[in-house]
Amino acid sequence: MSKHIEPLKQAMVDAGRSLFERGLTGGTSGNLSIRVGDEWLVTPTNSCLGELTPSDISHLDGSGRLLAGKPPSKELALHQAFLSLRPDDQAVVHLHSTYGTAWSCLTHPDPGNVLPPLTPYAIMRLGQVALLPYRRPGDPRMAEDITRVAAGHRAVLLANHGPLVAGRDLAAAQSAIEELEATARLALVLRDEHPRLLDHDQIRELETTFGNSNTTGHVSQ
Ligand code: ZN
Repeated sequence: MSKHIEPLKQAMVDAGRSLFERGLTGGTSGNLSIRVGDEWLVTPTNSCLGELTPSDISHLDGSGRLLAGKPPSKELALHQAFLSLRPDDQAVVHLHSTYGTAWSCLTHPDPGNVLPPLTPYAIMRLGQVALLPYRRPGDPRMAEDITRVAAGHRAVLLANHGPLVAGRDLAAAQSAIEELEATARLALVLRDEHPRLLDHDQIRELETTFGNSNTTGHVSQ
């Protein structure tokens, strides 16, 4: 297993640094996880994503026992609940990124679909984004909330908290959460401008042409 684990730890370190350096996560916020069989790699609790080393990454067995690294993020239970209903996805990225979090603080008429269909890439990478109710950090109901929507959504916003996105691999999850952040930013910039939205037929065309999947993480543009 370790032959596979070490490159994944390095990928998490690189992703964390990239997100941090571009201002998508600050302080000790945000966490990344990868499911490897029944084991888990996750960024450690109280850590800055910009300053991790591979030996910091928490490596847990299927029963939650720490095999290596520092103690895991307290939000790991949320990642595990998410992927428990998404067998084809193996990674989760969670950020307190500014625009995604700002959008999570607004009220939305349809909590199953809170981002407007502004660009094809958001639809292709994210599908419909669900808003989950506000819970205090550590509230076990967060995991219950996410299991209600996980099968039908790869991207969610935790109200007044931030986005959480699953992907086939870490690169796919990272790419998708960056698309969510960009779309939330566009939505806020255009909020009072009455933008032209993609219509039902245009969304259907994208779903049938591209399969509404973030499996590669690198949709041609
Ligand atoms: Zn959080």
